Amino acid sequence: MRWAKILISWSLWASMAGGLWAQLVPHTYPAFTRADSLRGALRPERTSWDVNHYNLYLSLDIPKRSIRGENVIRFRVLAPMDRLQLDLFANLTIDRILWNSQSLSFEREHNAVWVQLPETLAEGSEHSLTVQYHGQPQAAAKPPWDGGFVWEEDPTGAPWVGVACEGDGASLWWPLKDHLGDKPDSIRITIEGPDTLMAVCNGDLVTARYPAPGRKSWTWATTYPINSYNVTFYLGQYTHFQDTYESGEYGPLQLDYYVLQGNEPQARKHFQQVHGMLDCFEQYLGPYPFRRDGFALVEAPYWGMEHQSAIAYGNEYENNRYGFDFIILHESGHEWFGNYISMADHGELWIHEAFTTYTEAIYLECTQGADVAQKYLLDQRRLIRNQEPILGPLDVNYTAWPDADMYYKGTWMLHTLRHIVQDDELWWASLRQMYDSLGGGTRTTHTAEVTGYWQQVLGSRLNELAAKMGINPRLGPFFDQFLRCSAPPRLEYALRPAGNQGWFVYYRWANVVPGFQYPLSFALNASPLRIYLPPLRVVPTDSWQRTFIPHSGPLAISPADELFYCIPQQVEVPD
Ligand SMILES: [Zn+2]
Repeated sequence: MRWAKILISWSLWASMAGGLWAQLVPHTYPAFTRADSLRGALRPERTSWDVNHYNLYLSLDIPKRSIRGENVIRFRVLAPMDRLQLDLFANLTIDRILWNSQSLSFEREHNAVWVQLPETLAEGSEHSLTVQYHGQPQAAAKPPWDGGFVWEEDPTGAPWVGVACEGDGASLWWPLKDHLGDKPDSIRITIEGPDTLMAVCNGDLVTARYPAPGRKSWTWATTYPINSYNVTFYLGQYTHFQDTYESGEYGPLQLDYYVLQGNEPQARKHFQQVHGMLDCFEQYLGPYPFRRDGFALVEAPYWGMEHQSAIAYGNEYENNRYGFDFIILHESGHEWFGNYISMADHGELWIHEAFTTYTEAIYLECTQGADVAQKYLLDQRRLIRNQEPILGPLDVNYTAWPDADMYYKGTWMLHTLRHIVQDDELWWASLRQMYDSLGGGTRTTHTAEVTGYWQQVLGSRLNELAAKMGINPRLGPFFDQFLRCSAPPRLEYALRPAGNQGWFVYYRWANVVPGFQYPLSFALNASPLRIYLPPLRVVPTDSWQRTFIPHSGPLAISPADELFYCIPQQVEVPD
């Protein structure tokens, strides 16, 4: 429904704006199916109940690559209902759905499961049902980008198993309400496998048992709400070691590391960087959000994933040329943006990725200074493709972006906003305050709330800039351009001598949404003497404007596109 509204407002823009906005027409997506809506949209069979707790038990048969288990779902009724929707991929078999000891009837449609309840449940009542199931879960072709099980072996030939399901969703391996809008208050997972291995999951280890000869089970539990795609397990020959992070402000935090046997010495050394990272993140973003459950890195048979309080680490102990391990940093950044501040619809994944990618630059600014962070951002900028809007369609669990613009264009959107505002104290305080305003508990957020948040916290500064320089104090067109258009803002500019008195600099925004009226700076270089004049800060609109530069010698200009994301284009002087 929300997507339909966006399309309507877009066609209004397109008809109002005529040819100039030729590239700003709505992006055309392939037709979505009933299966997409079943997975991505809300309906009474999903909204009439709120999940309190999942208790998942899973036994693994590694040679057969199969699983057998059950999930006990505890929930509270929000509106009277006699039918509910669960989700489980169609390739997995449901053996029975139990209500106390009674078997419930159910129907399957694509990956949805319609469960008929024995009676109409009253609002406010609490219940539980148990789904027993088995089968061969889908294997990941290219984890973590394709969801599924990863059936690997460690260097000694022992099994090493894990699962990553961001995008496809948790229902590829366990039955649940697979909508990101409903985080359970907590979860418990038990993994049963060969007793020569160890299972690690989210949260803390509660107990381990020996259910049968040669078999062992490990039960883990979180004490915090969690996104369904963050629920995970790792099964392998693990060594566990611990460390403590002494936070100046928020008290000690337990760090748990699970690495393959033999990797402990290098891991102990390599993971030292976690301390400096947490120093910066706690300073700029807020306290580590899952303190009771602790912070953990778990060596994984795939590159990485932001699994809450059990981050998948598979980067082979390598730092990048900026001296940090990208996977440790990026996936840990998601504990703030993604796991604590969470979207409710996969089409809005930019909320997780743009801010998390920005945490990489924050870390560099915090540890090595703004110049190094700037260089890093310029490296990322080369990866922007402008193929598709970074805000995807809603209610269809959209995952099919052709590029990584929600990461890199997303981080450049934030970098640009910072330089529009030109008030670092306000900028960092606003970022820090997101934690309290949009995160925590079972709440989730969405694009309008995030952009509204920024409008509100930067509002008085934007009004000040509007009065002083004529910028648009409303951020709507700014966010529309970056989130809803694939086309980047194009800056057209020109330079013309003004007799022998000086120069005129001409400029305008092209290919922008109506109202895109934000400042940028030009560097002025009075070559060949290499005298740098103070930068020229202007507010282009979609009409040509000019500014006189009283400098009679040679002059070169270049837009400061290291601070503002746009495509600069020097053009002929307009008539
Ligand atoms: Zn990410």
